[in-house]
Amino acid sequence: MPSFKNQQPDLKRNRMRMLSEQIMARGISNSAVLAAMGKIKRHLFVEEAMQAEAYGDFPLPIGFGQTISQPYVVALMSELLEAEPGMKVLEIGTGSGYQAAVLAEMGLDVHSVERIKELHFRTASLLRRLGYYRIGLKLDDGTLGWPEEAPFERIIVTAGGPEIPRPLVEQLADPGILLIPVGEKQRRQQLIRLEKQGGKVIEHNLGAVSFVNLVGNHGW
Ligand code: SAH
Repeated sequence: MPSFKNQQPDLKRNRMRMLSEQIMARGISNSAVLAAMGKIKRHLFVEEAMQAEAYGDFPLPIGFGQTISQPYVVALMSELLEAEPGMKVLEIGTGSGYQAAVLAEMGLDVHSVERIKELHFRTASLLRRLGYYRIGLKLDDGTLGWPEEAPFERIIVTAGGPEIPRPLVEQLADPGILLIPVGEKQRRQQLIRLEKQGGKVIEHNLGAVSFVNLVGNHGW
């Protein structure tokens, strides 16, 4: 049996393989995204029993029927945000905190909302333990946004609902970009990129994705 100590090099090797085989091989080239995902110990964001699988090419359960997103999906969403360091970003669906940590490592001013109390508190303490003191966390229905902190230059929703929540569009800065999975069927969505520019709102459909449900006032 390997001791706990010599498991760590394996996990690092898994992380580097994740980067090359799942992220770079599929066309993600944003250096801030690659640096963040190469640095962050994703295995600390999953249950201890699942650490060996943390760098696999799939989402993993994090309890309460929720999942930590597949690494490639995190990378893709992070790249599609087209964010610059210092930008204020709102994430809906804190979950494990992994996506929030990636955005923080990219130099963004991160605010993240989670609706499940246990996940909110568990992730708040993990992020604090890992030194991410500046990520703002809120326990609430994220479909209502975070009005006190608005406007946000970027908004990223990591759960899928039946529509684009109006409060999020209102709280998006101009110019600003909002990424959200939207679908009439649960677990099957189209990733929508909404851009606000000069008072106009333009929507693009970026293709099929599968996220857990966005539950709330403007969700399921
Ligand atoms: N970004 C997360 C993904 C977690 S899965 C990560 O990196 O791990 C999506 C999360 O969205 C779940 O934790 C779920 O509870 C949360 N969620 C669903 N509806 C929500 C809502 N209306 N407001 C805030 N969080 C919500």
